[in-house]
Amino acid sequence: RESLIEEIKETIKTKNVELLHLQFVDIEGILKHVTVTAEQIDSVVDGKIMFDGSSITGFTPINQSDLYLQPDLTTFAVLPWTEEEGYSEGRFLCSVKKPDGSDFEGDPRNILKKTVERAKEKGYSISVGPELEFFLFETDEYGLPTKQTQDIGGYFEPSPKDNGEKVRLEIYRTLKAMGFTIEASHHEVAEGQHEINFKYADALGSADAATTYKWVVKTVAKQFGLHATFMPKPLGGANGSGMHTNISLFDDEKQENAFYDESDKLGLSKTAYQFIAGLIENVKDFVAVTNPLVNSYKRLVPGYEAPCYIAWSASNRSALIRIPATRGAGTRVEIRCPDPAANPYLAFAVVASAGLDGVEQELTAPASVDADIFHMSAEEIAERGIENLPTSLEEAINRFEEGEIGKKTFGEHAFGEYVALKRGEWDEFRTTVHDWEVAAYQGKF
Ligand code: GLU
Ligand code: MG
Ligand code: MG
Repeated sequence: RESLIEEIKETIKTKNVELLHLQFVDIEGILKHVTVTAEQIDSVVDGKIMFDGSSITGFTPINQSDLYLQPDLTTFAVLPWTEEEGYSEGRFLCSVKKPDGSDFEGDPRNILKKTVERAKEKGYSISVGPELEFFLFETDEYGLPTKQTQDIGGYFEPSPKDNGEKVRLEIYRTLKAMGFTIEASHHEVAEGQHEINFKYADALGSADAATTYKWVVKTVAKQFGLHATFMPKPLGGANGSGMHTNISLFDDEKQENAFYDESDKLGLSKTAYQFIAGLIENVKDFVAVTNPLVNSYKRLVPGYEAPCYIAWSASNRSALIRIPATRGAGTRVEIRCPDPAANPYLAFAVVASAGLDGVEQELTAPASVDADIFHMSAEEIAERGIENLPTSLEEAINRFEEGEIGKKTFGEHAFGEYVALKRGEWDEFRTTVHDWEVAAYQGKF
């Protein structure tokens, strides 16, 4: 720790870091920060910087509002877009503490840490590799997003159809300068849709990375006069944006991937099958977290490469859970329902927690479904016992509230806050008269 602090102080000096942003996320995963001068670095690393928790969604009531920020020193980064001659800014991602020094239980980062500890007690480390898709939209004269996508490119199409190449290049360079390992980048299926992939890491590292990635994508897009959105389904009739989550367990004692078993016909271990079973058993109860918006459920419909049926497969992209072809150290499951509007800390926590439940309870995975479910008849789907994911935020929030996985993973405080927040969101949607209704009914009736 001491040497890390020295290193940071050295960087502050050599890079002329003048300001430090202390960052954390609220219950929706929205990034927040307070800015202090770099001279305060000693108080910063000692966790002495305080803020008002009652103004943060899902945090504390007004009478217990003092909270403290404890930076995670490994997340220190100089912000490339702030660098100029003799000046720059840096940031830390922080965990939130109470005045008595204990972890604040409503902090999403602390919630994920608890799930990581639960896995550790079982002898596992959790690896996560998320894939976040996003759209680039043109902005108007005020810099606000319009409904106009920034190009008409399609899957893997190069420029001149791909207008986002320069933007993605700049995002890649920025992330790289902040310590990311970038693996690939491409135009996605929908017009104006893109994806940039970074290397997997431990669960907390990946949630930090997803949070930083979203911030950088939005920041760089803005430099190009564009608006980047992680809204799950910005355009009707086109693909939405997913946050496919690749996840695996690493056996700490044997020092190997716990999902790989050479002798199995699919190369998967008993632990992997149990983990899949845990995901399938719990998914209806946790989609309110992985798919948190009213709009999320408009993505989970047939025909757009997003899942809507609860099934798993070693190949099939119509299934909820796919097993990518890599084996050995790279063996993992890919759960395809999460979308990038989810709070990555909470999403990875519920997904890992559900899988761990399967391992603890030694659940048996149902048979895999390798045929294309999107082209199956309703009878065949019913015959195979394939169920649907919740089709609305209302259904999802009901399941979340009644189920065990949310309470157990979030703890009482965040669980209550999350249910109340999402119920409020649904009620607002439910009682609003939407354009569609007016268009469909006003003339006819
Ligand atoms: N955009 C698709 C989704 O909504 C995923 C496409 C892909 O396989 O990368 O999940
Ligand atoms: Mg993709
Ligand atoms: Mg994928």
